[in-house]
Amino acid sequence: MIVVLAGAPGAGKGTHAARVAEVLDVPHVSTGDLLRGAVDSGTELGKKAESYMKGGELVPDDIMLSLVAGLLDSPEWERGVVLDGFPRTLPQAHGFDALLKERGRPLGRVLLFDLSEEAAVDRLSSRMWCPKDSSIYNLKTNPPATDGVCDVCGGPLERRADDEPETIRARFVEFRSATGPMIDYYKDLGVLTRVSTEGPIEDVSRRVREAAERLTAGDGVGDGR
Ligand code: AMP
Repeated sequence: MIVVLAGAPGAGKGTHAARVAEVLDVPHVSTGDLLRGAVDSGTELGKKAESYMKGGELVPDDIMLSLVAGLLDSPEWERGVVLDGFPRTLPQAHGFDALLKERGRPLGRVLLFDLSEEAAVDRLSSRMWCPKDSSIYNLKTNPPATDGVCDVCGGPLERRADDEPETIRARFVEFRSATGPMIDYYKDLGVLTRVSTEGPIEDVSRRVREAAERLTAGDGVGDGR
């Protein structure tokens, strides 16, 4: 099953994507992580994406669509995938539809992680991440066992370059103008399920797991209106 995770910056896509993927038994892929990896290793893709990412802007749609087109044909995605952060604009959603149609593959569901902007900004300001394995922590609500150290790999935690206050604001403007129309599109298609990510992490984890379990039971119809 192909599942798309959508949501404002800080809504919890990165934190909960792995759980959704685990329940569905498919890989999870964050286009943000793929791009950050490409920037770090200085690939052609990374060189093209870097300046957009630093300013909190979206990478152009044609670059994103060719990245995903290549991955759609990889054996790892054969049984499905949980996509965190793609599509993110209406043209990407249309392009993705076309890629899936060409391959005769259906879009399973779009899960919209729903969080107020105020709560999201608060979360992003205290977010830390591990650049080695992409684990995400929150200094207030989900701190690592040892200060500044990743629980999973023991590597040093960092603040993401695009979690600086100026960049956070730019990402929100971008989300409303570019991703808003995509969400309306999926809502009109009847494939959107809203999951509130407001509140303590344990409650959010439970709601996300339940939403994913409903997908495996074939009951994808949510309260997307
Ligand atoms: P994320 O980790 O999902 O917040 O993504 C970090 C950054 O990567 C974004 O601010 C964009 O610059 C870029 N990015 C990730 N996914 C996409 C996408 N689907 N379309 C355009 N840019 C993207």
